[in-house]
Amino acid sequence: MAKIKKLDYDELISVRKELVLEKEENKKLATELITARKELIFQKEEKGKRAIELGIANIELAFQDKEKGKRAAELIIANYARGLIEASRDPLFTISPQGKITDMNEATVKVTGAAREKLIGANFIDYFTEPDKACKGYQQVFTEGFVADYPLTMKDHKLTDVLFNGSVYKDDRGNVLGAVVVARDITEQKRIEKELTEAKVFAELATEIAEEAKIKAECAAHVAEDAVKSKQQFLSNMSHEIRTPMNAIIGFTKVVLKTELTSKQKEYLTAIKMSGDALIVLINDILDLAKVDAGKMTFVQTPFKMALSLSAMLHLFETKIQEKNLLLIKEYDSRIPEVLVGDPVRLHQIILNLVSNAVKFTTHGKITVNVRLHSEDAETVTLKFAVTDTGIGIPPNKIEKIFENFQQATSGTSRLYGGTGLGLAIVKQLVEPQGGSIHVKSKVDEGSTFSFILPFQKTKANAEAVEELVELDTEIKNIKILVVEDIALNQLLMKTLLDDFGFERDIAANGKIAIEKLQTKLYDIILMDLQMPEMNGFEATQYIRNIMKSNIPIIALTADVTTVDLAKCKAVGMNDYIAKPVDERLLYSKIIGLVKKPTPLKMLKNNDSQSGSNKKTKCINLDYLLHRTKSNPTLMMEMILLYLEQTPPLITTMKRSLHDKNWDVLHAAVHKMIPSFSIMGIHPDFENMAKRVQEYASSQQETEAIADLVIQLENICAQACEELEEEFNIIKTNTIN
Ligand code: ADP
Repeated sequence: MAKIKKLDYDELISVRKELVLEKEENKKLATELITARKELIFQKEEKGKRAIELGIANIELAFQDKEKGKRAAELIIANYARGLIEASRDPLFTISPQGKITDMNEATVKVTGAAREKLIGANFIDYFTEPDKACKGYQQVFTEGFVADYPLTMKDHKLTDVLFNGSVYKDDRGNVLGAVVVARDITEQKRIEKELTEAKVFAELATEIAEEAKIKAECAAHVAEDAVKSKQQFLSNMSHEIRTPMNAIIGFTKVVLKTELTSKQKEYLTAIKMSGDALIVLINDILDLAKVDAGKMTFVQTPFKMALSLSAMLHLFETKIQEKNLLLIKEYDSRIPEVLVGDPVRLHQIILNLVSNAVKFTTHGKITVNVRLHSEDAETVTLKFAVTDTGIGIPPNKIEKIFENFQQATSGTSRLYGGTGLGLAIVKQLVEPQGGSIHVKSKVDEGSTFSFILPFQKTKANAEAVEELVELDTEIKNIKILVVEDIALNQLLMKTLLDDFGFERDIAANGKIAIEKLQTKLYDIILMDLQMPEMNGFEATQYIRNIMKSNIPIIALTADVTTVDLAKCKAVGMNDYIAKPVDERLLYSKIIGLVKKPTPLKMLKNNDSQSGSNKKTKCINLDYLLHRTKSNPTLMMEMILLYLEQTPPLITTMKRSLHDKNWDVLHAAVHKMIPSFSIMGIHPDFENMAKRVQEYASSQQETEAIADLVIQLENICAQACEELEEEFNIIKTNTIN
């Protein structure tokens, strides 16, 4: 057992030792464990630290990222802004509140010609021509926040006009950082504006000039018009001066030619008359030409009887044609309406010219005047007139020329045949403006045909005052004519002519005297010269028609048919006109036509066809007188004569007292007149009228109505006088027979 025990001890020791070792080992391990544990804690701590650091780093990273994003966005904005700035072609600046340039675009660089570096920090106002104004402008941006369309001129090399627009920009807290200003280049607008202004100024100037020119033109036109007027007046006066003695020469030559003469005397006088005629034609031509030149050729539209008118024209050539032993043939188309509307005076002139040429240039053979219906529609008829002669003809190379002023076919024409070469030029001017045309066909030594086509209006109207040429009727004696004419020679000529007709005539040297005569004596007709001293023919006619209210026929005696305004004659109330030198048959016809006093013989002749269509219904009825006088012709005649003597002065007194408003005299005159109405069988209406005049005159009421009544009384008395004169003559003739 001890042995076991020793073993066990050793073992135990060894175990103990081992245990101590183990313990030591454990201790070591424990220390190591602690150290390891410590290490672990430290490691842990370190790890925590690292994690925090990582977190921070992450945060930092995130922040960095954000910042980076921000920077990128800022960069985009900045790029965008720059893009915007640069996109503007107008100079654009940013300026600081101190007025320093902080940025600008390329356009600014270009305009100012200064480098970007130089511009930055420079004074904004230094770049404008008016720095003060520029200063105010940019200050306004900062005080008001903006400025719009502020005009400035940039101090660039070409002084660009700009409109300055600006607005401030602020930071996120609203602090003003600066201003953006755009200087809009308005050079183009300015140029346009300038051009417009210039254009306006020019236009105004042009208008002014035009107006001045217009005034000048008007002045010139007035001067020209005055010149034309004075030219026409001069021509008119001159022609009057020339024609007056010429008319007397021709007129008296005609008168002398009618007396007994030796053949030599007749020859000489014929030569005088021919020269006179030629001179009158020349004067008329020159006057017509002046009228054409002045554009004053006018055409009337009046109804007239074509065939009659033509016969009257051709009648004027009868003597000449007979003298030259020529034959005048008239061919007239019966389809032509009797009355047409046109200008008979101008037609007269045209035919006169053509026929007188035909007569002039023809020594043997015939002259044919042919008028035919060319065409017709509902309103118009176009007639073709042709004047054919068997005369000398016109060479083909001259035919075009003859319608020009002063052109004659040969240089010898004037010497051989006279003339001025104006006639055809005037004819053309008379035909074409009326819508017609003129042609000529001619063969030398065979003859010529001048033809013209003229349109006329159709009408249903009756042609008034187209008198047929009446043969001189010595039975017609009782026509009283007042000749109003200032020139002694013409007075004498008229006297001679009217004496030849067997008419009674008085002469008044001017319109005033004529009116005086009209107030004291009854006339059947007035022959009125136009140009007279004191009161001319127009004034006198106006007075007769408007003041005297008389309808007495008036024929104008005019030396100047071509220039005197015939319309004026008509306008003042003249019934007709007659050209000087007076064609006596025409004068006679016109007087008879207007006075309408056919002889009893004529009336008998016309009775069946016209049944007295020209005759007025009689205003007198002699039944009472026949009864009272028991048809005693002598007594009848005495009574009629008494009426004829008393009435005209009573009418004159009646009119004068009315004019003078002398009511008592008027009353007395009408009072004396009243019984004669019933004696002469005048309608009781007129007696009543006379009584009304009496009444109004004594009460001096309705004095306006008196004038009208007086005119009616005057007319009826005048008619009664006319009729009684006729009756007187009939009774007288019957008594003698
Ligand atoms: P005038 O007859 O005054 O010379 P016109 O103008 O009437 O002027 O005529 C011009 C010219 O035409 C005449 O000079 C003449 O040579 C020519 N002439 C006109 N009519 C005829 C005609 N019937 N026969 C021949 N020649 C004519």
